[in-house]
Amino acid sequence: MTQQEITKLKGVVRNIPDFPVAGVQFKDLTTLFKDAECLQLMEQGLVELFRDKGVTKVLGIESRGFIGGSLLAARLGAGFVPIRKPGKLPAETVSKSYSKEYGTDTIEIHKDAITTEDVVVIHDDLLATGGTMLAAYELVKSMNPRAIYINFVCELSFLEGRKVLPKDVEVTSLFDF
Ligand code: AMP
Repeated sequence: MTQQEITKLKGVVRNIPDFPVAGVQFKDLTTLFKDAECLQLMEQGLVELFRDKGVTKVLGIESRGFIGGSLLAARLGAGFVPIRKPGKLPAETVSKSYSKEYGTDTIEIHKDAITTEDVVVIHDDLLATGGTMLAAYELVKSMNPRAIYINFVCELSFLEGRKVLPKDVEVTSLFDF
């Protein structure tokens, strides 16, 4: 992506102060998704990152990771797999619980969603503290795919979420705040 394109994408992200709780600056990407030109730029930017990597499955984290994740999958000619909150997936699942700032959370994936032959990208809209993506990575790693990449549309660099993610995995995003 050009610097101009990155600036355009960053410029349309809406900041909502104190959502969902006081003190959080929530980056609302729906204002990027609803803009036809920006949605296309985002899709192109994601595709450029993975064009030559032999990706066979893109895994999107519920729910905003479904948007960029399925666009990327379709453009790469890969399959799309949802990583969901507990109780949403109908067939047999594997799950992973993880600590959040307050309490714990769980994510699930269908047990037959990926194989040891797959090259996967785990995608979410935004990297904050990294806890959600780390749990997703550990869940997917336990299924032994051939390779795993981690990707976001954007990241909040000041929260240093990359530090909790594994050092030997390529982590990419289109832009940061
Ligand atoms: P984390 O586990 O802290 O990296 O949080 C990542 C998840 O929470 C992602 O699925 C984001 O969509 C969401 N999230 C966390 N913080 C923010 C924020 N400031 N703005 C928008 N989304 C956020």
